[in-house]
Amino acid sequence: MKLQLFSLFSFVLLISSACRGEARRICKCRPNQWWCWPTGWDWDEFSTKLSTPNALIKNQRPMGAVCYPKDPLYDPVACQSLNYTLHGFDFAFMSSRINATNWYNYDSIIYPDYFEETEVGCPYFPLTPDSICEQGRVPLYAVNASTTQDIVEAIKLASKWDIRLVVKNTGHDAIGRAFGVNALEIFTYNMKNLTVHNNFVPKGAPRGTPPVPAMTVGAGVNWDQAYAAADAAGRTIAGGLSPMGTVGTAGWNLGTGHSLLSSHFGLGVDNSLEFTVVLPDASVVTVNEYLTPDLYWAIRGGGGPSFGVVVDITIKLHEAKKYTGAFYESYCNSDACFLELLTTWMKYHNAVADAGWSGIWPTCDRIFYLTLGTPYDVAPSRQTINVLKEFMEEAKGILGNHVTVSEFRDYDSFEDFCEKNLKQDPTAVGFNMTEIVFGQVQLVTSSWLLPREATAPENAAKMAKAVASVDSAVVVPFLVGGGAVNDPAKKSSSAANPAWRNTLVDMTIAETGSEFDDINVLQKTVHDDIAPFRAMAPPPYGGMYLNEADILEEEWQVAQWGEQYPRLLEIKKRIDPKDLLIVRMGVNSEGWDDEITCKTVTTSLAAYAFTRTKTVTTNLAAYAFTRTTEIASVWVLVVVLILTLVSLNWYLQLVDTRPVVSLFQAFL
Ligand SMILES: Cc1cc2nc3c(=O)[nH]c(=O)nc-3n(C[C@H](O)[C@H](O)[C@H](O)COP(=O)(O)OP(=O)(O)OC[C@H]3O[C@@H](n4cnc5c(N)ncnc54)[C@H](O)[C@@H]3O)c2cc1C
Repeated sequence: MKLQLFSLFSFVLLISSACRGEARRICKCRPNQWWCWPTGWDWDEFSTKLSTPNALIKNQRPMGAVCYPKDPLYDPVACQSLNYTLHGFDFAFMSSRINATNWYNYDSIIYPDYFEETEVGCPYFPLTPDSICEQGRVPLYAVNASTTQDIVEAIKLASKWDIRLVVKNTGHDAIGRAFGVNALEIFTYNMKNLTVHNNFVPKGAPRGTPPVPAMTVGAGVNWDQAYAAADAAGRTIAGGLSPMGTVGTAGWNLGTGHSLLSSHFGLGVDNSLEFTVVLPDASVVTVNEYLTPDLYWAIRGGGGPSFGVVVDITIKLHEAKKYTGAFYESYCNSDACFLELLTTWMKYHNAVADAGWSGIWPTCDRIFYLTLGTPYDVAPSRQTINVLKEFMEEAKGILGNHVTVSEFRDYDSFEDFCEKNLKQDPTAVGFNMTEIVFGQVQLVTSSWLLPREATAPENAAKMAKAVASVDSAVVVPFLVGGGAVNDPAKKSSSAANPAWRNTLVDMTIAETGSEFDDINVLQKTVHDDIAPFRAMAPPPYGGMYLNEADILEEEWQVAQWGEQYPRLLEIKKRIDPKDLLIVRMGVNSEGWDDEITCKTVTTSLAAYAFTRTKTVTTNLAAYAFTRTTEIASVWVLVVVLILTLVSLNWYLQLVDTRPVVSLFQAFL
């Protein structure tokens, strides 16, 4: 009886444990797992489906490999040509590399500092001749995409074999989302198609929808190229600010996109009319407000590549206007002077934004800069100019403040302003935007969107103190809110952080270091520096800009998307049920480890066993099928070859086969 009771008890325990939800891990396929990783044969077959024979790069190695004497790829000439200047790597050069992001820390795996090594990667130049170039986060396989079909095939392959998939455009992303360990990379940088439309109407729009001027940019078009095309068409486009215009239109737009023209024309998401996207199920769709309203909402601000891989984007164009730039630069010889200067600036801050000015007000080492601009139809008003002049005048009187630049300049257009100030132009003035973070090989960022109340004159002293206390290399506050950005009707019109709709300034902090500095220390520095600003407006009142994310932000969902996150998550789960396009701190990345290799799910043993068995069986079936096809094909080839030789011999009588035949008969 006792035994029966015991057995019953064990059975109940077993059943309840099988049904109870417990934490279990499911992982993406890794190259050392023969049963799920594509064979050489599969890669070759995949390659034939791509647009060019060289589109697939197999066994891709980090950019620095050519500089390592111990690496099979060692090539001193190629190493020389890596374009390393006295200042570091050129932004345009780095953006164009398929096997590197913009900064070394995103190419390497970062371990917590209790490990002996904090980063495992391939520093661009070896420390010693014996150093080893480690693969780090550089994807092992890459597709240099030039057509939609290339993207479709890459998605199909990654989905079939359950491989980690990443998308790199320029690699500017601030937490390295463009790369990943053991991944297949889709490189969209070379998709440079560009079309200007005088009368664009989104597909499926109701009859009578007024056409607007617009530009369709391929996923690899960067702002420099878009500005040039807009200028040539006599129009203007609200795009981002970056050295040599290197920021990509794709990642910028998907992550929201702020511009010096945003207070006049809105954020990137407010100007993107239509997208061509390859979804995680490999279908190609047109995404706009009429055909796919949910996806159109999510893709604008949900962050790349969470809702699909973008082939192109159609962006609204605006009437070209002349542009006025305002520049200021001064150096304080004491902390007291610097604090007074910042307090004075903060008293004017919101009034300057409300008068129509946008731009940046960077500070570092007690130097304060203003690089602002405004379209001409705003500038002629006396109030616009006067508010800045008043600040400049008051700042002049601060004891110990040495003013070096204080002037206004006229430009033919916003594009002309960018051309003259972002591209090593000798006429550039004030803050050197061409070299914004140029020269350092590690970079980490943090950002906080501050509601206008936080930057109001009554908080001037508090804000000034927070700015003056920043330890990181540079503070680059982007004064890009207000005006059209703050349109309350836009608050939930896209997935962009609703905090933008009450923001004037996006406080951005960057810390830089050499490739041998401890990355954990750099990250902690920016994270600590942003804390006082975060405390002024915790989420969802304030928020983090996902395109300038802080890797240590714990409440990243509400910080990046406020109250919109649940809707985003629901759409994401519907569009990408197999978690194909997951990025760090991206939608539905909960449970995944930092490298999106394994996910911890809470599930019952029974459900887990069922899913695992299904996955393993599917993988094994796919493997067996491929192997059988491979083996069968080899045998078919051998038989065909023998038959051909025999027939040829029979016809030409080259070799006397009678002894072989009689031997065969004797054997039988
Ligand atoms: C120097 C500098 C200046 C900047 N200035 C501004 C600015 O003025 N305004 C502003 O808003 N931001 C600015 N940023 C931030 C910028 O918006 C982000 O770095 C953005 O991620 C860049 O996108 P990308 O396509 O160039 O970069 P990537 O790093 O290649 O891509 C960014 C993200 O988008 C994904 N992605 C890329 N291409 C695709 C695609 N075709 N389909 C789907 N997903 C894709 C990537 O996987 C990645 O997750 C700046 C950044 C830097 C470094």
